[in-house]
Amino acid sequence: MTDQARTLIEAARDAAKNAYAPYSNFAVGAAVLLGDGTVVTGANFENASYGLSLCAETVALATVNAQGRFRDVVAIGVIGGRIGHADTAPVSPCGRCRQIINEAAQLGGCDLPVYCGGATGDRIATYKLSELLPHAFGPADLGLVDR
Ligand SMILES: [Zn+2]
Repeated sequence: MTDQARTLIEAARDAAKNAYAPYSNFAVGAAVLLGDGTVVTGANFENASYGLSLCAETVALATVNAQGRFRDVVAIGVIGGRIGHADTAPVSPCGRCRQIINEAAQLGGCDLPVYCGGATGDRIATYKLSELLPHAFGPADLGLVDR
């Protein structure tokens, strides 16, 4: 595991401790690395309506945007696991989050590395966003950025 991956996975695990996940009992944490080394985290945020729930990656990236840094994302770490279990299998972003990560990737002009881990353990799966979301539709298709 690289230092960058380890830092983001550990930060994501810390964030997952604050997950609001009383319905799924599945805690997810995300950590977004910015160009200056800042790490912004998020945790899943469920809702009694279920459909209004927010994923950890979405919470973290919306926070990055609120700080005016959405074009400055360089890597993302995501972890997840059942609350109260020591799950080690890497968890990868859902389809919606892959699309949201793609927004940051295209705006920043970078095929972002996405580090995926479990709630515990050293198993880390490393992907480029283009592997998780090939042939992505995004801001470049709408002329917001160059391809
Ligand atoms: Zn998601």
